[in-house]
Amino acid sequence: MKNNPLESAKQQLLDIAKILELDKKTVDRLLKIENLVSGEISVKLDNGRIQKFKAWRSQHNSACGPYKGGIRFHEGVTVEEVQALSMWMTWKTAVVGIPYGGGKGGVVVNPKNLSKSELQRLSRAYIKLIAEHIGSDKDIPAPDVNTNAEIMGWMLDEYEKIVGRKEPGVLTGKPLELGGSKGRTEATGLGGSYVLDSFVKKLKKQKKNVSIAVQGFGNVGSYFAKFAYKNGYKIVAVSDSKNTLYNEKGLNIDKAFDYKAANDTFKGFPGGKLLPAEAVLSLNVDILVPAALENAVNEENVSKINARHILEMANGPVTPRAEEVLTAKKILILPDVLANAGGVVVSYFEWVQNLQNYYWEKEEVYAKLKKLMDKAFASVWSEFERLSKVSKKSTLRQAAYSLAVQKVVGAMKARGEN
Ligand code: NAD
Repeated sequence: MKNNPLESAKQQLLDIAKILELDKKTVDRLLKIENLVSGEISVKLDNGRIQKFKAWRSQHNSACGPYKGGIRFHEGVTVEEVQALSMWMTWKTAVVGIPYGGGKGGVVVNPKNLSKSELQRLSRAYIKLIAEHIGSDKDIPAPDVNTNAEIMGWMLDEYEKIVGRKEPGVLTGKPLELGGSKGRTEATGLGGSYVLDSFVKKLKKQKKNVSIAVQGFGNVGSYFAKFAYKNGYKIVAVSDSKNTLYNEKGLNIDKAFDYKAANDTFKGFPGGKLLPAEAVLSLNVDILVPAALENAVNEENVSKINARHILEMANGPVTPRAEEVLTAKKILILPDVLANAGGVVVSYFEWVQNLQNYYWEKEEVYAKLKKLMDKAFASVWSEFERLSKVSKKSTLRQAAYSLAVQKVVGAMKARGEN
């Protein structure tokens, strides 16, 4: 199957399993989704009609702790995608060393076609479907594409009604009023900016001489661009699903951020010119940051990539085939499981705060996030150097997977699996 994210996720695992010389039984166990909740949820529309939506929650592996992963509302969601994303969550939580397994949820819907009250009914119906499978010590969902703090608030309310008790730690990415953490909204972008800093130090380059193009200007892309801009990098392009906003001298990201928030488009922004949406991928920049959806860089467009390196802020934005081509060109790819882990790290902090009923200031959240991301980068980099001594074709993804898979296998063994 072409660009099937589950095939990509499996391929990446098989690749590292070979390097680590894992036995077949262990590999099969790691490939297995432990539990998949599937259903159709019925939502009453404002006009009285009932509409049905396909929905899933995939729980990949819980050896290291409760499942953890976002909920995606998108018309392109498939069961394969949800499973792949849950598998990536297992590795991501292991790479950054937080005590979780991997999960992910999805509903096939274009939320833009729903009114706010319809969206709320959909969110509540989804929680009804998965309620018995989640819990603060079982599976802890969070926002992903097209879901946000407001939706988490509705979902928490529904869950607490079903179980008949307060349990704020069942979901993260909540509004502050319901036990959300300071710093969660911007956490993924901020975490990515810490990884960028560590990487640029390794490249021995000055920030102002590093040009960056960011694909996607939603939660992840916009905050990543904002922090990178604040830290002195030259962001020459940002894009959304309609346009690329480009200025070779560098964009003022704060202004672009406010403009996009006010107008929902880059059209008419005075500080840059508009190019087609896909143009962002082929710009000649030091670092390309795909921060939209998976498969953005694939075997069809990989020959058009002109960036020196790639920082994956979306999940699975570079397909394995495309990665082979890029690796042969010595383009380093900072893998999603490391680069975009900031969101789940602050989700973890939120959960810890919920369990303790003791809340931290934003500065404390940022400092703890930086410490964890810096440590994860350093471990992945040294594993990369180790693997590179064995094979010149080694990648940072293999290094991250190597650490993650060893950790999960270690936890399975410690549980008595053999
Ligand atoms: P979002 O819905 O806030 O934003 C998605 C952005 O992508 C929007 O700007 C949209 O216009 C843009 N987009 C969609 N199709 C595009 C295209 N073809 N070309 C260019 N831009 C396009 O979603 P998000 O939360 O920012 O998530 C983005 C990615 O990051 C996803 O892969 C998600 O799984 C991943 N991620 C999110 C988080 C999080 O905390 N939100 C954490 C880790 C990973």
